[in-house]
Amino acid sequence: MKRNVFLENGKEFDLSDFMEFGKEEREILGSEIPIMVYRLMEFSLREEIISECGKEKQIEIFREAGRRAGTYIAQHMLDLSLPFNEFIAQLQARIEEMKMGILRVEAQDGKAKKLILTVSEDADCSGIPLLGETVCNYDEGLIAGILSAYSNVACQAVEVDCWGTGSRVCRFRVEALEKEGWQADGE
Ligand SMILES: [Zn+2]
Repeated sequence: MKRNVFLENGKEFDLSDFMEFGKEEREILGSEIPIMVYRLMEFSLREEIISECGKEKQIEIFREAGRRAGTYIAQHMLDLSLPFNEFIAQLQARIEEMKMGILRVEAQDGKAKKLILTVSEDADCSGIPLLGETVCNYDEGLIAGILSAYSNVACQAVEVDCWGTGSRVCRFRVEALEKEGWQADGE
């Protein structure tokens, strides 16, 4: 068996340990896989968790997993020292580079620490059938995780429109749970 230095050191694995891959490891196939593969993973997990633990728990697990991913993205891929509007511009660029979707700020109330974000061409749900419910719980957590890491204040994101509810964009209401959240520029 291959030696495992991590186990010998008693190190706990975290998300960042699984993000490493280079040209040698994916020499032929590169860094991208089709959306269909991503969705197979996401929606098979969703089905399995619902059947094992029920819908409520599935939503909670997806939100909390998304929050972990959002925290990772914030800490490893974003400059958290930027002023708010520049930070959002950077976030839009990253989300698009990673082909997760096209992020826009639809409304912003800096004083009340509230934002409405839309994501079009969302990787998770674009094109899915009308289900009568939103399904992007992972994205809810991801957005909340990013903005919580940026502002150092717990934030919450709730998806209010989705391909699953017949919309053509996903729309998220985001708010800081404590009122000393982010400081929007010019306030
Ligand atoms: Zn959605």
